[in-house]
Amino acid sequence: MTSQELFEKAQKYIPGGVNSPVRSFSSVGGDPVFISSAEGAVMTSSDGEEYLDFCGSWGPLILGHADPDVVAAVQSAAAEGLSFGTCSPREVEMAERLCSLCDGMERVRMVTSGTEATMTAIRLARGFTGRERVVKFAGCYHGHHDAMLVAAGSGLLTGGTPSSAGVPAGTTAAVSVLPYNDAAAVREFMHSMGGETAAIIVEPVAGNMGLVNPGKEYLQLLRDLCSEHGTVLIFDEVIAGFRQSCGTWGGSLGILADLTCLGKIIGGGMPIGAVGGKAVIMERLAPAGDVYQAGTLSGNPVALAAGLATLNKLKRENPYPRMAELCRTMAERVNFRAAELERPFHIAFLGGAFTPFFCSVPVTTLADAQACDTVAFGRFHGFMLKKGIYLPPSQFETAFFSAVHTDDDAGRLMDALLEWLDSGW
Ligand code: PLP
Repeated sequence: MTSQELFEKAQKYIPGGVNSPVRSFSSVGGDPVFISSAEGAVMTSSDGEEYLDFCGSWGPLILGHADPDVVAAVQSAAAEGLSFGTCSPREVEMAERLCSLCDGMERVRMVTSGTEATMTAIRLARGFTGRERVVKFAGCYHGHHDAMLVAAGSGLLTGGTPSSAGVPAGTTAAVSVLPYNDAAAVREFMHSMGGETAAIIVEPVAGNMGLVNPGKEYLQLLRDLCSEHGTVLIFDEVIAGFRQSCGTWGGSLGILADLTCLGKIIGGGMPIGAVGGKAVIMERLAPAGDVYQAGTLSGNPVALAAGLATLNKLKRENPYPRMAELCRTMAERVNFRAAELERPFHIAFLGGAFTPFFCSVPVTTLADAQACDTVAFGRFHGFMLKKGIYLPPSQFETAFFSAVHTDDDAGRLMDALLEWLDSGW
C-alpha cells in the first residue's frame, strides 16, 4: 500500500490517522509519509522513496537507524525473555551506568516514557517539599500529563492549541507559566512565590519551540533561586540528555539539577524514560518512601539492552565532536548565504542539533519562535522532502545529526538548503 492509501485507511481506525500528533503533517500541509524500514541515515517509505533522515525518531536515534550493535543486543535480550515483571540484572547495570555518567545523579528510577519521567519528577518534588506550586516555562514541552499541558511546546504549538481540552482547571491551577529565558520574570516570581514553590521544571536547552539555548547564566540563576528558596530544580533532559556529550547538559555546564529527566537516547529507540537525582529526594519514591510511582514494563529488559548498547557505543566512539562539526559547517554556510540574500531565515544549532528558523533574528524566546513564518516553513518542508530529506514536520521542533551521517549526507543537506534559499523560496 502507498503512504496515501495507508493514511486513508489509518484515518478510519486511528484518531487523525496518527498515534502521536507531531507525526501528522497538519502544520506543513500534505499527508504524512509512511516509513516501512530504515537503516543508518536512510528511511524507506511504503512508496519506495528513500529519505535522508534528520528527525531520528524525534531524538533517540543518535546512532542512526537499526544500529547493528543495538539490534544485536535487542535480539539477544528478546531471546532471553521480553519482560519478567521482576527485578532483573540489566536494571542494576543501567542504574549504575546512569549514575556514573550523569553528574549529581545518586539514584535513578526507570520508567517507559519521557512523560512518565517528568510526571514522576513533579510528584516527587511536591511530595518532598510539601508544596504544590510548580513553575514551567512557555514553549517548553514536558510530555502530555495533565499538569504540564499549559503553554506547552511541540505539537501543542504547531496545532495552535494553547493547552488541551479535558485537563481539569484544578490540575493546572498550581502551575505558574513564566516566559522562557527571561531572568527578570523568574527572579521576580521567586522573590514573591519561592517559599511556596515545589519545583521549577525547565528544558535546559529548549527543543520544542525549535532549538533555543538560554545559556549558562540563565540556568545558573534558576539553580541559585531554587537553592535559596528550597525549591526542587528539575532539568527535563529528555531531548538534551546524552545529546552533546555522554552525560547531561547540566553536568557539562557544571550546573546540577536536583532531579533530571531522561528518555529518548537512553533507550536507543525503545520505549524508555528515567528520573534521577539527589538520594535525599529520590528515596522518597515508593517503596523506600511515600511518593507512589510504578510501572508494569518499567526497566523492561529489552529496552534496557537497547539503551545500554547505545550508551556503551557513545562512550566508546564519542561521535559528538564529528556531529557538531558537520552541523556547524552546514549551518554557517547556509546562514552566510541567507544573510547575503537577505532572506528571513537562519539555522540555530548546538552540537549536532539544529532548527531552520524562518526569521532573521536569533530566536531566544517563545515569542521570537512564534513570529517565524510557518507558512514558508511548510513550503520548505515539502521542498526538502522532494529532495529526499526528511526533517521534523514543524517549525517548532529540533532536527538532529546522527553518528552515521557522512560528510556527503551533510553536503546533501547543505546543498538542498542552499538551493531552497536560491530558488525554492
Ligand atoms: N520532555 C521533553 C523535553 C520532550 O521533548 C518530550 C517528548 O518529545 C517529553 C518530555 C515526553 O517524552 P515522551 O514522548 O517519551 O513521553
